[in-house]
Amino acid sequence: AKSEGRGTYRFFEAKLGTQVRERRLLEHDLRHAVARGEMHLVYQPQTDVQTGATIGFEVLLRWRHAERGAVSPAVFIPIAEESGAILPIGEWVLREACREAASWPNPLSVAVNVSAVQVHAPHFVQVVHEVLFQTGLEPARLEVEITETALIRDPSRAQSTLRQLKALGVRIAMDDFGTGYSSLSNLRTYPFDKIKIDGSFIRAVDGNEQTKAIVRSVLGLGRGLGLPVLAEGVETAAELRFLADENCQSAQGYLMGKPAPIEHFAALTHSALSS
Ligand code: C2E
Ligand code: CA
Ligand code: CA
Ligand code: CA
Repeated sequence: AKSEGRGTYRFFEAKLGTQVRERRLLEHDLRHAVARGEMHLVYQPQTDVQTGATIGFEVLLRWRHAERGAVSPAVFIPIAEESGAILPIGEWVLREACREAASWPNPLSVAVNVSAVQVHAPHFVQVVHEVLFQTGLEPARLEVEITETALIRDPSRAQSTLRQLKALGVRIAMDDFGTGYSSLSNLRTYPFDKIKIDGSFIRAVDGNEQTKAIVRSVLGLGRGLGLPVLAEGVETAAELRFLADENCQSAQGYLMGKPAPIEHFAALTHSALSS
């Protein structure tokens, strides 16, 4: 039994070794991915539930690795965060997204995901300020999406960063609402402008009374606080109808549009004058 145990241990050790090596390889390649042109952005429309009009786009990062092909953000974003590579990559995303959005007809906004490492970095607000200045994008047309887990490392610093962003005129959305530990107190502590209900609630809405009750109460909470609510992950007409009936302001999901290169949405982003 003893030698068997050792064998199992060796097996795990070897497996762990492979995982660590794999991670180091990705970490290394991530540092050069932008310069090598392997990163690109896709855009997913955000829709006014009552009118059906597109009100903006969320920007999602894609990595096409030279040898591995597409690597999922669920895999490379955590590695980028832990290694610090998210700082230059996040800045690139922000700049590209704002440059792109500056050419859209005016009411359309752009939503950019911002990770904990960025929120806590000393120069983040300055970077946002610079990017807005350089691209000429109106600050109110930029929305940063922040998950509540991004705020817990240093709450007072996060609070100060969010206040400064708000002072620039940038809007702040709480991403993945309902999946964290203290969503309610965070709504009170931080100056959010919008709540994004996590897709896991929306996809469970069909026929599930409990989930419907949860979504209704988040919408009620938004009304009470004067915060518009966006529902993520809308995949079916029934889900959208439920949201419309419950007076949800905006929605996003495969039903209205999958994330795609911005050219795919040219009819929306090219005004008659700029085309
Ligand atoms: P997220 O911010 O919650 O983004 C929503 C995710 O749901 C995206 O996955 C999107 O493609 C997917 N999605 C949208 N509509 C639907 C739907 O109707 N059904 C389903 N099943 N999924 C839908 P994606 O693009 O794989 O991104 C995963 C996560 O990676 C994002 O979650 C975000 O946390 C992170 N991420 C992506 N781009 C960036 C970025 O530029 N910076 C940072 N810091 N994080 C990013
Ligand atoms: Ca997001
Ligand atoms: Ca989300
Ligand atoms: Ca998420």
